[in-house]
Amino acid sequence: MKKISCNVIRDILPLYLDDAVSGDTKELVEEHLEICDACRMEADILGSNITLPTNRDVKFSDAKALKRLKGRFLRKKVVVSVLSIAAAIAVMTGTYAIMTLKKTYIPYDSTKIRIKKEDRQIYASYHGDNLAGTVLVHTTAAIDGEEEDVMIFGYYETPWSKYIEPIFKQFQDESGICGFGDWPELDRIYYAEFDLDSYLDSCSASTPPKEWDSEYMIERSELVWSR
Ligand SMILES: [Zn+2]
Repeated sequence: MKKISCNVIRDILPLYLDDAVSGDTKELVEEHLEICDACRMEADILGSNITLPTNRDVKFSDAKALKRLKGRFLRKKVVVSVLSIAAAIAVMTGTYAIMTLKKTYIPYDSTKIRIKKEDRQIYASYHGDNLAGTVLVHTTAAIDGEEEDVMIFGYYETPWSKYIEPIFKQFQDESGICGFGDWPELDRIYYAEFDLDSYLDSCSASTPPKEWDSEYMIERSELVWSR
């Protein structure tokens, strides 16, 4: 058989490497490669470098990339949900705080605010809606040249007590029972017509704590009971 030239071998090499040649051709190529270093080198280069990824490989790496992407989206989704829950809690607690902390003083109304005396116990009660709480201060004040024992108190409402509580709380005819205790020496009871709570806070918040100014408070209060 005539010796096959290197050129012919190199023409066939790609087909040979793709395993797309007949058995006879394959034998011819292999015989040639055994004796021809140059062609063998060419075959090695072709065989190693030009390896196109098979479809399976591409699909596999695509799947892996997709999985990674999905994982990232999932993580992002979890972070977003955690953040939105935190935001919702913050909004709710913030709203609740605003609704319960914003005190509005209820002005004195003799039909709603009553002072009662039973034996030696004196107490106030509230007969109206929306009451949130009571602020009370016990002090002494110089009245008409005499030092008198004085109670000053105030009722307040909050947006919570005004708008939310009535939804689930039944109206009580009497609420805000504010006992002044057994004070045989108690001389006067005043109802605060100013923000008593903030005033007391401002006294204790200053350094050193400021003394309550009884006269200041009494001037801004309604006398509701006296001995
Ligand atoms: Zn050759």
